[in-house]
Amino acid sequence: MKAIKGKLIRGFVVLAAEWGVGCRIGPMKKCSNIFTLTDSNENTHIAHTEPLDMGVDSDTLASWLADYDRDNITIGVVASHSSLQILHGARSEGFRTLGIAVGENRRRFYQAFPGAEPDEWLMLDNYLEMMDHAEWFRERNVVIIPHGSLVEYLGSANFRELQVPTFGNRGILHWESSRERQRKWLEAGGCTMPKVLEDPHDIDGPVIVKYAGAKGGRGYFIARNYRDFRRNVDIEEEFTIQEYVLGCRYYLHFFFDPTATDGFQVQGKGANAGKNLGRLELLSMDRRDESNVDEFYKLGSLRDLREMSLEPSFVVTGNQPVVIRESLLPRAFEMAEGTVAESFELEEGARGMIGPFCLETIVTDALEFKVFEISARIVAGSNPFVGGSPYSDINEERMSTGRRIARSIRKACQNNRLEDILS
Ligand code: AMP
Repeated sequence: MKAIKGKLIRGFVVLAAEWGVGCRIGPMKKCSNIFTLTDSNENTHIAHTEPLDMGVDSDTLASWLADYDRDNITIGVVASHSSLQILHGARSEGFRTLGIAVGENRRRFYQAFPGAEPDEWLMLDNYLEMMDHAEWFRERNVVIIPHGSLVEYLGSANFRELQVPTFGNRGILHWESSRERQRKWLEAGGCTMPKVLEDPHDIDGPVIVKYAGAKGGRGYFIARNYRDFRRNVDIEEEFTIQEYVLGCRYYLHFFFDPTATDGFQVQGKGANAGKNLGRLELLSMDRRDESNVDEFYKLGSLRDLREMSLEPSFVVTGNQPVVIRESLLPRAFEMAEGTVAESFELEEGARGMIGPFCLETIVTDALEFKVFEISARIVAGSNPFVGGSPYSDINEERMSTGRRIARSIRKACQNNRLEDILS
């Protein structure tokens, strides 16, 4: 049996060209991307589809929610990333909670945190089995809170197709998942980004080389000139060369509530010009600990390190709370407002940003922000703030991003607006 890939279009599989026509497609499990395929020689193959980025349309979402008991919503989360914060926040807002995990060890670990321990567990052998549990989730009125690990475990295409109500706008993932699309979005929103070099021969100062598939900054490297670049680059991989911005990093955790009509209202643009789109909040701010780049200066210069066959790497190992110089806050809000307003203009019928997002920035010594990335969901950098932050405490004490998500769901249940914050 040989695994092949096909494409799913409106429930039909378009076969890879090599299989041509005349193949029989076996039954496909509901909500699964696995099926069998029999070729003209009667050989059976296991095949899997790659769902097109169709996502869940608003009619489908509304039909699921019509069957939901809005007084008995369960908040479901994959047990990783920011799940302690999300579960703790959900409990604080009075929700029943569900943990989704692979491996008994993972479940047991939560006993160490009774304040966040889920009321119920769904234990799986593989996170992809979530796709087949969609009905099971919906029967329990589950709303899934997505985070970086969920998207990584399922793959972004599967995550978009998961047939369960999910907090936030899954449609934004398409824009978040490619560096070029992020750049279009953020620059149109008024953010300044680090320059990109198309030709490595043009390197004439420090650059950071980022591989497309790199997880958590692993494998990134710094080059000072073309020779440096050539010595280190893996040309088999897809990469981007970015100007290395010297400055201090700040990861700004915002929350956009499209259902709120008070507070700092985002002004729409384009088709939405003149409209208030919803309330923008700043919940917290962190700086990532990155191993080993944060500590490598102790061994000397980049040259000294390379003489010892060492390279700086950018693997995230933890997060520290920070606040930014207060005079920089208006510009931070301006960038976030532009980013949210632009999210409604990205494509025809775009639903825009919903809920938490993070602008990942470097502030230079000229006090300018350079935004090098956006995450359009809760980031693990919000974990230091389970008990609130210097920013969120001003408005309501002990308000974490996880709790803010739960609050948003609770309010939407009360006001019959779940459709506006889920996808
Ligand atoms: P990213 O994968 O884009 O989130 O980047 C991972 C890490 O690389 C960041 O947290 C920064 O420490 C560093 N980094 C990314 N882009 C730049 C840049 N243009 N200049 C300097 N450092 C950067």
